[in-house]
Amino acid sequence: MKVELPAAFTERMRALPGLDFGRFLAEYDRPPLRGLRVNTLRCATESFVLSAPFELSRTPFCDDGFYLAEPVSGRHPWHHAGVFYLQEPSAMAAVEALAPQPGMAVLDLCAAPGGKATQIAARLQGRGLLVCNEVIPARARALLSNIERCGVRNAVVLCEQPKVLCERLQGFFDCVLVDAPCSGEGMFRREPQAAAEWHEDLPAACAARQLEILCCAADALREGGTLVYSTCTFAPEEDEGVIDRFLKRRGDYEVEAIERPFGRPAMPQWASAAPCVALARRIFPEDGGEGHFIARLRRRSQGTSAVPACQTGSEPKSGSDSKSALRLFTEFYRENFQAPLYGEPFERGGSIYIAPPLLPPTQGLHVMRAGVFAGKVRGTR
Ligand code: SAM
Repeated sequence: MKVELPAAFTERMRALPGLDFGRFLAEYDRPPLRGLRVNTLRCATESFVLSAPFELSRTPFCDDGFYLAEPVSGRHPWHHAGVFYLQEPSAMAAVEALAPQPGMAVLDLCAAPGGKATQIAARLQGRGLLVCNEVIPARARALLSNIERCGVRNAVVLCEQPKVLCERLQGFFDCVLVDAPCSGEGMFRREPQAAAEWHEDLPAACAARQLEILCCAADALREGGTLVYSTCTFAPEEDEGVIDRFLKRRGDYEVEAIERPFGRPAMPQWASAAPCVALARRIFPEDGGEGHFIARLRRRSQGTSAVPACQTGSEPKSGSDSKSALRLFTEFYRENFQAPLYGEPFERGGSIYIAPPLLPPTQGLHVMRAGVFAGKVRGTR
Protein backbone atom coordinates (compact mmCIF):
# COMPACT_ATOMS: atom_id res chain seq x y z
CA MET A 1 0.00 0.00 0.00
CA LYS A 2 1.36 3.41 -0.97
CA VAL A 3 1.51 5.82 1.96
CA GLU A 4 -0.48 9.05 1.80
CA LEU A 5 1.96 11.81 2.71
CA PRO A 6 0.65 14.84 4.66
CA ALA A 7 0.48 17.86 2.34
CA ALA A 8 2.31 20.19 4.77
CA PHE A 9 5.14 17.65 5.09
CA THR A 10 5.48 17.34 1.31
CA GLU A 11 5.50 21.12 0.85
CA ARG A 12 8.19 21.58 3.48
CA MET A 13 10.39 18.91 1.91
CA ARG A 14 9.89 20.44 -1.56
CA ALA A 15 11.13 23.81 -0.25
CA LEU A 16 14.37 22.47 1.26
CA PRO A 17 17.31 23.78 -0.82
CA GLY A 18 19.78 21.12 -1.91
CA LEU A 19 17.34 18.20 -1.65
CA ASP A 20 16.50 16.41 -4.89
CA PHE A 21 12.80 16.48 -4.12
CA GLY A 22 11.76 14.49 -7.21
CA ARG A 23 14.07 11.66 -6.24
CA PHE A 24 12.98 11.84 -2.60
CA LEU A 25 9.31 11.61 -3.57
CA ALA A 26 9.92 8.77 -6.03
CA GLU A 27 11.18 6.62 -3.14
CA TYR A 28 7.63 6.47 -1.79
CA ASP A 29 6.66 4.37 -4.83
CA ARG A 30 8.98 1.62 -3.57
CA PRO A 31 8.43 -0.81 -0.72
CA PRO A 32 10.09 0.00 2.62
CA LEU A 33 13.59 -1.27 3.33
CA ARG A 34 13.79 -4.11 5.83
CA GLY A 35 16.77 -5.42 7.66
CA LEU A 36 18.20 -7.57 10.39
CA ARG A 37 21.30 -7.37 12.50
CA VAL A 38 23.13 -10.48 13.61
CA ASN A 39 23.42 -10.63 17.39
CA THR A 40 27.10 -11.43 17.75
CA LEU A 41 26.56 -12.34 21.42
CA ARG A 42 24.83 -15.45 20.03
CA CYS A 43 26.41 -16.12 16.64
CA ALA A 44 29.36 -14.94 14.50
CA THR A 45 28.18 -12.90 11.53
CA GLU A 46 30.05 -15.00 8.97
CA SER A 47 28.51 -18.24 10.35
CA PHE A 48 25.09 -16.61 10.13
CA VAL A 49 25.66 -15.62 6.50
CA LEU A 50 26.65 -19.18 5.61
CA SER A 51 23.63 -20.83 7.20
CA ALA A 52 20.82 -18.22 7.10
CA PRO A 53 17.67 -19.32 5.28
CA PHE A 54 17.03 -15.73 4.11
CA GLU A 55 18.25 -13.76 1.10
CA LEU A 56 20.61 -11.16 2.56
CA SER A 57 22.69 -8.27 1.26
CA ARG A 58 25.06 -6.08 3.26
CA THR A 59 24.17 -2.56 4.44
CA PRO A 60 26.60 0.39 4.48
CA PHE A 61 25.65 1.14 8.10
CA CYS A 62 26.94 -1.77 10.16
CA ASP A 63 29.13 -4.83 9.48
CA ASP A 64 26.59 -7.12 11.16
CA GLY A 65 23.57 -5.57 9.40
CA PHE A 66 21.80 -6.89 6.29
CA TYR A 67 18.96 -5.97 3.99
CA LEU A 68 16.25 -8.59 3.71
CA ALA A 69 14.81 -9.37 0.28
CA GLU A 70 11.59 -10.60 1.96
CA PRO A 71 10.10 -9.77 5.36
CA VAL A 72 11.08 -12.21 8.14
CA SER A 73 8.70 -13.05 10.97
CA GLY A 74 9.49 -12.24 14.60
CA ARG A 75 8.19 -15.75 15.25
CA HIS A 76 11.14 -17.33 13.48
CA PRO A 77 12.93 -19.66 15.97
CA TRP A 78 16.29 -17.93 15.39
CA HIS A 79 14.67 -14.63 16.31
CA HIS A 80 13.16 -16.19 19.39
CA ALA A 81 16.63 -17.48 20.34
CA GLY A 82 18.14 -14.01 19.97
CA VAL A 83 20.32 -14.93 16.99
CA PHE A 84 19.22 -11.80 15.13
CA TYR A 85 17.32 -8.57 15.74
CA LEU A 86 14.91 -7.23 13.11
CA GLN A 87 16.02 -3.64 12.65
CA GLU A 88 15.49 -0.92 10.05
CA PRO A 89 18.87 -0.61 8.28
CA SER A 90 19.56 3.11 8.85
CA ALA A 91 18.75 2.68 12.55
CA MET A 92 21.97 0.64 12.85
CA ALA A 93 24.11 3.70 12.04
CA ALA A 94 23.68 5.49 15.40
CA VAL A 95 25.51 2.85 17.46
CA GLU A 96 28.27 2.69 14.84
CA ALA A 97 28.70 6.45 15.33
CA LEU A 98 28.76 5.97 19.13
CA ALA A 99 31.41 3.21 18.77
CA PRO A 100 31.33 1.87 22.34
CA GLN A 101 34.27 -0.37 23.28
CA PRO A 102 34.31 -3.48 25.53
CA GLY A 103 34.71 -2.46 29.18
CA MET A 104 33.01 0.93 28.84
CA ALA A 105 30.01 2.20 30.82
CA VAL A 106 27.29 3.09 28.30
CA LEU A 107 23.87 4.71 28.76
CA ASP A 108 21.02 4.26 26.25
CA LEU A 109 18.55 6.82 27.58
CA CYS A 110 15.52 6.23 25.28
CA ALA A 111 16.03 2.55 24.71
CA ALA A 112 12.74 0.68 24.04
CA PRO A 113 12.18 -1.64 22.34
CA GLY A 114 15.93 -2.22 22.36
CA GLY A 115 17.28 -2.32 18.78
CA LYS A 116 20.14 0.01 19.57
CA ALA A 117 20.58 -1.24 23.16
CA THR A 118 21.12 -4.81 21.97
CA GLN A 119 23.50 -3.50 19.30
CA ILE A 120 25.51 -1.67 22.00
CA ALA A 121 25.51 -4.87 24.07
CA ALA A 122 26.94 -6.82 21.13
CA ARG A 123 29.72 -4.25 20.74
CA LEU A 124 30.53 -4.45 24.46
CA GLN A 125 30.96 -8.24 24.06
CA GLY A 126 29.73 -8.82 27.60
CA ARG A 127 32.36 -6.53 29.17
CA GLY A 128 31.62 -3.23 30.85
CA LEU A 129 28.13 -1.97 31.61
CA LEU A 130 25.04 -1.08 29.59
CA VAL A 131 22.41 0.98 31.39
CA CYS A 132 19.29 1.08 29.23
CA ASN A 133 16.31 3.19 30.17
CA GLU A 134 12.76 3.60 28.95
CA VAL A 135 10.30 6.01 30.50
CA ILE A 136 7.06 4.18 29.50
CA PRO A 137 6.55 1.07 31.69
CA ALA A 138 4.98 -1.20 29.03
CA ARG A 139 7.77 -0.34 26.61
CA ALA A 140 10.37 -0.88 29.35
CA ARG A 141 9.02 -4.43 29.75
CA ALA A 142 9.47 -5.02 26.01
CA LEU A 143 13.01 -3.67 26.32
CA LEU A 144 13.77 -6.06 29.17
CA SER A 145 12.39 -8.96 27.17
CA ASN A 146 14.67 -8.12 24.21
CA ILE A 147 17.70 -7.73 26.48
CA GLU A 148 17.01 -11.22 27.88
CA ARG A 149 16.27 -12.73 24.45
CA CYS A 150 19.58 -11.44 23.13
CA GLY A 151 21.54 -12.89 26.06
CA VAL A 152 22.86 -9.62 27.47
CA ARG A 153 24.43 -10.26 30.87
CA ASN A 154 25.92 -6.86 31.68
CA ALA A 155 22.82 -4.66 31.43
CA VAL A 156 20.76 -2.71 33.92
CA VAL A 157 17.23 -1.97 32.70
CA LEU A 158 15.55 1.10 34.19
CA CYS A 159 12.16 2.77 33.83
CA GLU A 160 12.96 6.33 34.83
CA GLN A 161 12.55 9.97 33.83
CA PRO A 162 15.75 11.12 32.04
CA LYS A 163 16.13 14.05 34.46
CA VAL A 164 16.02 11.84 37.56
CA LEU A 165 18.40 9.28 36.12
CA CYS A 166 20.93 11.72 34.70
CA GLU A 167 21.03 13.90 37.81
CA ARG A 168 21.77 10.81 39.86
CA LEU A 169 24.50 9.50 37.58
CA GLN A 170 26.27 12.72 36.66
CA GLY A 171 29.49 12.18 34.74
CA PHE A 172 29.27 8.41 35.12
CA PHE A 173 29.22 7.19 31.49
CA ASP A 174 31.87 6.89 28.78
CA CYS A 175 29.19 6.92 26.06
CA VAL A 176 25.56 8.07 26.01
CA LEU A 177 22.99 7.48 23.28
CA VAL A 178 19.88 9.66 22.95
CA ASP A 179 17.69 8.05 20.29
CA ALA A 180 15.03 10.64 20.86
CA PRO A 181 11.24 10.35 20.54
CA CYS A 182 10.48 12.27 17.33
CA SER A 183 7.82 13.03 14.74
CA GLY A 184 8.85 9.84 12.90
CA GLU A 185 8.84 11.25 9.36
CA GLY A 186 11.49 8.71 8.37
CA MET A 187 9.08 5.89 9.20
CA PHE A 188 6.17 7.05 7.00
CA ARG A 189 6.88 4.42 4.32
CA ARG A 190 7.09 1.59 6.87
CA GLU A 191 4.35 2.78 9.18
CA PRO A 192 1.58 4.67 7.30
CA GLN A 193 -0.06 5.25 10.69
CA ALA A 194 2.80 7.61 11.60
CA ALA A 195 1.95 9.67 8.50
CA ALA A 196 -1.74 9.69 9.43
CA GLU A 197 -0.96 10.96 12.97
CA TRP A 198 1.57 13.61 11.88
CA HIS A 199 0.52 17.27 12.06
CA GLU A 200 2.27 20.53 11.34
CA ASP A 201 2.90 21.44 14.98
CA LEU A 202 4.42 18.07 15.86
CA PRO A 203 8.08 18.81 14.93
CA ALA A 204 8.20 21.93 17.16
CA ALA A 205 6.69 20.05 20.11
CA CYS A 206 9.11 17.16 19.60
CA ALA A 207 12.08 19.55 19.29
CA ALA A 208 11.34 21.11 22.70
CA ARG A 209 11.21 17.67 24.32
CA GLN A 210 14.32 16.47 22.50
CA LEU A 211 16.37 19.45 23.70
CA GLU A 212 15.26 18.80 27.25
CA ILE A 213 16.23 15.09 27.06
CA LEU A 214 19.56 15.90 25.40
CA CYS A 215 20.45 18.43 28.10
CA CYS A 216 19.74 15.79 30.78
CA ALA A 217 21.87 13.25 28.91
CA ALA A 218 24.73 15.75 28.70
CA ASP A 219 25.07 15.68 32.49
CA ALA A 220 25.42 11.90 32.62
CA LEU A 221 28.45 11.80 30.33
CA ARG A 222 32.01 12.00 31.68
CA GLU A 223 34.35 14.64 30.36
CA GLY A 224 35.99 13.44 27.14
CA GLY A 225 33.10 11.00 26.57
CA THR A 226 30.92 10.58 23.46
CA LEU A 227 27.24 11.51 23.16
CA VAL A 228 25.22 10.50 20.10
CA TYR A 229 21.88 12.12 19.32
CA SER A 230 19.67 10.46 16.71
CA THR A 231 16.16 10.74 15.34
CA CYS A 232 14.20 9.00 12.60
CA THR A 233 12.72 12.21 11.25
CA PHE A 234 13.56 14.63 8.42
CA ALA A 235 12.28 17.74 10.23
CA PRO A 236 15.24 20.20 10.37
CA GLU A 237 14.10 21.72 13.68
CA GLU A 238 14.30 18.27 15.36
CA ASP A 239 17.69 17.50 13.81
CA GLU A 240 20.15 20.29 12.99
CA GLY A 241 17.96 22.71 15.00
CA VAL A 242 18.16 20.72 18.25
CA ILE A 243 21.93 20.29 17.94
CA ASP A 244 22.38 24.02 17.32
CA ARG A 245 20.30 24.97 20.36
CA PHE A 246 22.11 22.36 22.47
CA LEU A 247 25.56 23.72 21.50
CA LYS A 248 24.42 27.22 22.47
CA ARG A 249 23.45 25.95 25.92
CA ARG A 250 26.36 23.63 26.47
CA GLY A 251 29.67 25.25 25.61
CA ASP A 252 31.47 22.16 26.93
CA TYR A 253 30.24 20.12 23.94
CA GLU A 254 31.38 20.04 20.31
CA VAL A 255 30.20 18.17 17.20
CA GLU A 256 32.61 15.56 15.87
CA ALA A 257 32.98 13.91 12.49
CA ILE A 258 31.58 10.38 12.23
CA GLU A 259 34.22 8.00 10.95
CA ARG A 260 31.94 5.60 9.06
CA PRO A 261 30.84 7.58 5.98
CA PHE A 262 27.17 6.69 5.59
CA GLY A 263 24.40 8.87 4.18
CA ARG A 264 25.33 12.52 3.59
CA PRO A 265 26.38 15.57 5.62
CA ALA A 266 23.68 17.29 7.69
CA MET A 267 22.23 20.56 6.38
CA PRO A 268 22.76 23.38 8.95
CA GLN A 269 21.22 25.91 6.55
CA TRP A 270 17.87 24.13 6.82
CA ALA A 271 17.63 25.20 10.47
CA SER A 272 19.85 28.33 10.54
CA ALA A 273 22.30 26.24 12.56
CA ALA A 274 26.04 26.75 13.05
CA PRO A 275 28.17 25.45 10.14
CA CYS A 276 29.84 22.82 12.40
CA VAL A 277 26.50 20.97 12.53
CA ALA A 278 27.31 19.78 8.98
CA LEU A 279 29.52 17.16 10.67
CA ALA A 280 26.35 15.30 11.66
CA ARG A 281 24.92 12.87 9.08
CA ARG A 282 21.55 12.44 7.44
CA ILE A 283 20.26 9.28 5.82
CA PHE A 284 17.50 9.57 3.22
CA PRO A 285 15.70 6.64 1.57
CA GLU A 286 17.86 7.08 -1.52
CA ASP A 287 20.92 6.53 0.76
CA GLY A 288 19.71 3.03 1.64
CA GLY A 289 17.71 3.60 4.83
CA GLU A 290 14.23 4.76 5.75
CA GLY A 291 15.53 7.99 7.30
CA HIS A 292 17.78 8.96 10.18
CA PHE A 293 19.71 11.90 11.57
CA ILE A 294 22.82 11.24 13.67
CA ALA A 295 25.06 13.71 15.48
CA ARG A 296 28.16 12.69 17.40
CA LEU A 297 29.19 15.07 20.19
CA ARG A 298 32.19 15.14 22.51
CA ARG A 299 32.25 16.59 26.01
CA ARG A 300 35.39 18.64 26.50
CA SER A 301 37.49 18.15 29.63
CA GLN A 302 37.07 20.78 32.36
CA GLY A 303 38.23 18.91 35.46
CA THR A 304 34.97 18.18 37.31
CA SER A 305 34.35 14.98 39.27
CA ALA A 306 32.02 12.09 38.49
CA VAL A 307 29.90 9.58 40.42
CA PRO A 308 32.25 6.73 41.36
CA ALA A 309 31.33 3.35 39.88
CA CYS A 310 31.13 0.47 42.34
CA GLN A 311 33.33 -2.43 41.38
CA THR A 312 30.54 -4.78 42.42
CA GLY A 313 26.80 -4.46 43.00
CA SER A 314 25.90 -1.54 45.21
CA GLU A 315 22.64 -3.11 46.40
CA PRO A 316 22.43 -3.74 50.15
CA LYS A 317 23.17 -7.37 50.92
CA SER A 318 22.31 -7.86 54.57
CA GLY A 319 20.62 -10.51 56.68
CA SER A 320 21.65 -14.06 57.48
CA ASP A 321 19.05 -15.59 55.09
CA SER A 322 20.52 -13.59 52.26
CA LYS A 323 24.05 -14.65 53.21
CA SER A 324 23.18 -18.34 53.34
CA ALA A 325 21.30 -18.11 50.01
CA LEU A 326 24.37 -16.50 48.44
CA ARG A 327 26.63 -19.17 49.93
CA LEU A 328 24.40 -21.91 48.49
CA PHE A 329 24.42 -20.21 45.11
CA THR A 330 28.19 -19.73 45.07
CA GLU A 331 28.75 -23.40 45.94
CA PHE A 332 26.27 -24.49 43.28
CA TYR A 333 27.96 -22.28 40.70
CA ARG A 334 31.43 -23.58 41.56
CA GLU A 335 30.26 -27.21 41.27
CA ASN A 336 28.39 -26.79 37.98
CA PHE A 337 30.03 -24.05 35.88
CA GLN A 338 33.55 -23.74 34.55
CA ALA A 339 33.55 -20.09 33.47
CA PRO A 340 34.37 -17.60 36.22
CA LEU A 341 31.37 -15.72 37.60
CA TYR A 342 31.07 -12.39 35.76
CA GLY A 343 29.81 -9.86 38.29
CA GLU A 344 28.56 -10.01 41.85
CA PRO A 345 25.70 -12.28 42.97
CA PHE A 346 23.06 -10.73 45.21
CA GLU A 347 19.81 -11.95 46.73
CA ARG A 348 16.45 -10.19 46.38
CA GLY A 349 13.21 -11.79 47.61
CA GLY A 350 14.57 -15.34 47.46
CA SER A 351 15.98 -14.91 43.95
CA ILE A 352 19.64 -14.67 43.05
CA TYR A 353 20.84 -12.18 40.45
CA ILE A 354 24.33 -11.53 39.13
CA ALA A 355 24.96 -7.80 39.01
CA PRO A 356 27.39 -6.58 36.34
CA PRO A 357 30.69 -5.00 37.38
CA LEU A 358 30.82 -1.16 37.34
CA LEU A 359 27.23 -1.04 38.66
CA PRO A 360 26.45 2.56 39.67
CA PRO A 361 24.45 3.41 42.79
CA THR A 362 20.84 2.77 41.75
CA GLN A 363 18.95 3.04 45.08
CA GLY A 364 15.79 5.10 44.59
CA LEU A 365 15.76 4.55 40.82
CA HIS A 366 13.16 2.29 39.25
CA VAL A 367 15.32 -0.72 38.40
CA MET A 368 13.58 -3.42 36.37
CA ARG A 369 16.60 -5.69 36.18
CA ALA A 370 20.24 -5.41 37.20
CA GLY A 371 22.29 -8.06 35.46
CA VAL A 372 21.12 -11.64 35.12
CA PHE A 373 18.47 -13.62 36.97
CA ALA A 374 20.43 -16.69 38.08
CA GLY A 375 17.85 -18.72 40.01
CA LYS A 376 15.89 -19.18 43.22
CA VAL A 377 16.92 -20.70 46.52
CA ARG A 378 14.31 -23.04 48.02
CA GLY A 379 15.26 -24.30 51.48
CA THR A 380 18.77 -25.63 51.07
CA ARG A 381 18.43 -26.17 47.31
N1 SAM B 1 16.33 3.34 20.76
C1 SAM B 1 15.14 2.56 20.53
C2 SAM B 1 15.48 1.37 19.69
O1 SAM B 1 16.50 1.41 18.96
O2 SAM B 1 14.77 0.35 19.74
C3 SAM B 1 14.03 3.38 19.95
C4 SAM B 1 13.69 4.56 20.79
S1 SAM B 1 12.32 5.51 20.23
C5 SAM B 1 12.94 6.36 18.90
C6 SAM B 1 12.21 6.73 21.48
C7 SAM B 1 11.80 6.24 22.84
O3 SAM B 1 11.73 7.35 23.71
C8 SAM B 1 10.44 5.56 22.88
O4 SAM B 1 10.54 4.27 23.42
C9 SAM B 1 9.61 6.46 23.78
O5 SAM B 1 8.71 5.75 24.61
C10 SAM B 1 10.65 7.15 24.61
N2 SAM B 1 10.19 8.44 25.17
C11 SAM B 1 8.99 9.04 24.98
N3 SAM B 1 8.93 10.18 25.68
C12 SAM B 1 10.08 10.30 26.35
C13 SAM B 1 10.58 11.26 27.26
N4 SAM B 1 9.90 12.35 27.61
N5 SAM B 1 11.82 11.04 27.76
C14 SAM B 1 12.52 9.96 27.40
N6 SAM B 1 12.08 9.03 26.54
C15 SAM B 1 10.88 9.19 26.02
